[in-house]
Amino acid sequence: MDYKSEYLHPQYEALSREELQKLQLERLQATVQHCMNSPFYKARFEQCGLKPEDIQSLDDIRKIPFTTKQDLRDTYPFGMASVPLTKCVRLHSSSGTTGNPTVILHTQKDLDEWANAVARCLWMVGLRPDDVFQNSSGYGMFTGGLGFQYGAERLGALTVPAAAGNSLRQIKFIKDFGTTAIHAVPSYVTRLYEVMQQEGVDPRRDTKLKVLAIGAEPHSEEQRKRIEDMLGVKAYNSFGMSEMCGPGVGFECKEQNGLHFWEDYYIVEIVDPETLEPVPDGEIGELVLTTLNREAMPLLRYRTRDLTRVLGRTCPCGRNHIRLDRMKGRSDDMMVLRGVNIFPIQIEKILMQFDELASNYLITLTTDDDNDNMTVEVELEKFDDDYAKLQKLEKEIRRRLKDEILLTPFVKLVPKGTLPVSEGKAVRVVDKRKVYQ
Ligand code: ADP
Ligand code: ZN
Repeated sequence: MDYKSEYLHPQYEALSREELQKLQLERLQATVQHCMNSPFYKARFEQCGLKPEDIQSLDDIRKIPFTTKQDLRDTYPFGMASVPLTKCVRLHSSSGTTGNPTVILHTQKDLDEWANAVARCLWMVGLRPDDVFQNSSGYGMFTGGLGFQYGAERLGALTVPAAAGNSLRQIKFIKDFGTTAIHAVPSYVTRLYEVMQQEGVDPRRDTKLKVLAIGAEPHSEEQRKRIEDMLGVKAYNSFGMSEMCGPGVGFECKEQNGLHFWEDYYIVEIVDPETLEPVPDGEIGELVLTTLNREAMPLLRYRTRDLTRVLGRTCPCGRNHIRLDRMKGRSDDMMVLRGVNIFPIQIEKILMQFDELASNYLITLTTDDDNDNMTVEVELEKFDDDYAKLQKLEKEIRRRLKDEILLTPFVKLVPKGTLPVSEGKAVRVVDKRKVYQ
């Protein structure tokens, strides 16, 4: 490994667009051919009369039908596999609140490639074998645990598999082991900082932290800035999903100008979720991903339901891998209140602009006297018993929220530490509305 190199995999990271596209076509053709071994895809191809030879250009990807989460559920547990189970060495399963869970199978080669992808992301933001990497993700089925673990080991860092929760222990590890980099969900970083404050630990003075990888849940630019200010480090957005292995799919480079999605691993499409037609660069649509180097369970044109847009295909960092905007949320995170479409992230963006407010908030939807209402509870940074001041602040928050979401929610300011904190992904919305059929 060349410590000084900007790239961990220059042979892939530094490809020109033409070279990338050539590689993508070769890999797409091989993937479609390989999918003939999957009972699910074989039947799909037969249904629509698609043959592997029909893929002659990257545009031909549009001949392939989309794959959905429902397809994964319908073929639960192993109906999508493209290799015999004896070749598989691990599976990850997501619980899913309705219906069957989903399963993603991996061969040893898949796990190796996944580790390479995560290592590449961490290297890109400056991690090297002399770094100490602490992972505060849950381990087990949640892919943020093992995904980052193997990635950081592959890079050669000293890894601390701290797992989720137990903030006092996390802080002790950070200090005792000289942790330089942490991976955590953004909502947990703010919690960790609160405990540091309670314990009189100043991250700038008492730790060697320099890099954070934050992801696994939607967060706003404002939230990122807050996290960077709290800990005095750079925080890089990390995107992943179990269906695409887990972390390592998209990651910001040091420019922090969007997520580079690795195009030697995936073909990225952004489509209109209604018409399923591609949208022009810059327009928001649903992210659709095709795996290009997966053995056990390739997925073709997988509808992620995540909403984003293309920001560019070049970058001052020298990588031509596509840059996507931070996720706006999933199409199923969208709240429809009195006919208005609202994403939780829009509310977060406004709240985080108030210095008086801490980072934890909860949105509750209710039906009162046949009217649907939204209440935004948000924690105050500091306790304040000046009622008039709080009322003024509440009013100002409501006004700013109305400008953003076009509806006026109720706003409740609550003391710090009163809203629930989850160890994994934050729960931001509770929907208690009556459902009319
Ligand atoms: P589940 O599907 O059960 O939520 P995953 O861990 O596979 O479990 O979650 C993947 C999803 O998490 C993505 O589809 C996306 O909605 C969200 N996600 C992951 N990383 C980010 C990120 N950096 N920004 C916004 N959303 C993210
Ligand atoms: Zn870049």
